[in-house]
Amino acid sequence: MRKFVLFFYWLTGRRHFWQYYTNVTSETCPECLALHGKIVPDPSAFPARDDGCPRELLPFSVWELPEYRERERRMRDLAQAELERRALFAQAMEALEGSPEEALALFDRAGEIELYLSEVERLASEKAEFLAARPDVRRRLGKIFLRRWKGKFGRRRYEVWSERMRLEREKWGKKRIEELFLWE
Ligand SMILES: [Zn+2]
Repeated sequence: MRKFVLFFYWLTGRRHFWQYYTNVTSETCPECLALHGKIVPDPSAFPARDDGCPRELLPFSVWELPEYRERERRMRDLAQAELERRALFAQAMEALEGSPEEALALFDRAGEIELYLSEVERLASEKAEFLAARPDVRRRLGKIFLRRWKGKFGRRRYEVWSERMRLEREKWGKKRIEELFLWE
């Protein structure tokens, strides 16, 4: 973005913009995902939402617009990836009993994007009967989840977490996945 565009905003009396921020997780609603990263000149332009999703309107100075546009792009990509991940995970759940091979590949692709322990737990409980009857599938699932869980904390979005927090969370998730899928 050219400096004169920013200067133009400044001349027209614009001092701030606002960016919409939510926390992207498996629970964030689609409306908030669609707003994540969006930039407006007037915060009242954002719809008022009180749906339980974390929501913050972050003001920033006109001069920071180029950086925030870059952030907006990354935030939009993350929200988009989450929608894709949900679709893959849902397809995998659907396919699991009829075509486990296909389901395993889909769970792996979903986990490559992101892996949420709450969904792994939901899967273990909803498919408990099937998994008890198919220990081979259960163990392979456990290995996929373990591998994706290990890769999770290397992502940029977790850089803001302290090293200790990341290690503890990783350890806890590993234990959980082992309990749910990797018992004899
Ligand atoms: Zn929401």
